[in-house]
Amino acid sequence: MYLCSVKALVEHIVSRLTPYYPPEEAQELAYWVIQETTGMSRFDVRTHKGTKNIPNLNIIIQKLCEYVPVQYIFGHTEWLGLDLKVSPATLIPRPETAELVELVSSRQPAVGSQQSALNVLDIGTGSGCIALALKLKHPEWTVSGLDKSREALDIARINADRNKLDVQFFEADILTDTIGQYDMIVSNPPYIRPSERSTMTENTLRYEPAAALFVPESDPLLFYRRIAMLHAAPVLWFEISETQGEALLVLMGEHGYKAECLYDMYGKQRFVYATYNS
Ligand code: GLN
Repeated sequence: MYLCSVKALVEHIVSRLTPYYPPEEAQELAYWVIQETTGMSRFDVRTHKGTKNIPNLNIIIQKLCEYVPVQYIFGHTEWLGLDLKVSPATLIPRPETAELVELVSSRQPAVGSQQSALNVLDIGTGSGCIALALKLKHPEWTVSGLDKSREALDIARINADRNKLDVQFFEADILTDTIGQYDMIVSNPPYIRPSERSTMTENTLRYEPAAALFVPESDPLLFYRRIAMLHAAPVLWFEISETQGEALLVLMGEHGYKAECLYDMYGKQRFVYATYNS
């Protein structure tokens, strides 16, 4: 039982997490835990003078020390104005993927006369984050998402309900199934080579779904190649590995797409925008 000042709680959590996380991250996690368990706002956590009791604090800290992502501990995360359920069946939405959504929104394609009512597909939707964020920004669009994981689709559908967004999610394996025609496809497919494991955090390696992260060492672009081959949309948006930009531009060119790389907030090549002129 920890009935103590919020400041003391923060210090306690930070000191327990310090062996496992860099200082700023330990601090962020402490704020996160207190906000979640007390319902306080971030501002209140920083300024609160009273005392609080967090009944399961030890269990929560223990999980964090085992590198369970805080989003999985509490089962949800806030992202681009959405409250999203997440579990180890889905990736935790990333800040760079939020940038992808912003880019897609800022460069709406002119597809004939349907410019205002695009039909958009999110491939490998996971928690549904990209599809739902696009629908939230563009209610006039028809947005759907596919995934091969039923567990992920269950979560995506819960997220559509939770955020009151009309997005359809369906099961398909993009590598083997065919899909219909769309005005635009957006995808953050698996793109990490196993040899890049050493650059990843324990949180991701231990708990996030490997199937959503990793590609075969020998063929890291397979998802992009398949999507380009299908010619299922005249506009494609991808999140990519910073190491694969040039190769991906060549690949898109081979399938008749004119493509360009865009950079993320860390200055890394992170997105590809490709258009097809028939
Ligand atoms: N950007 C994610 C990460 O670094 C990977 C997402 C993906 O493979 N599509 O963990």
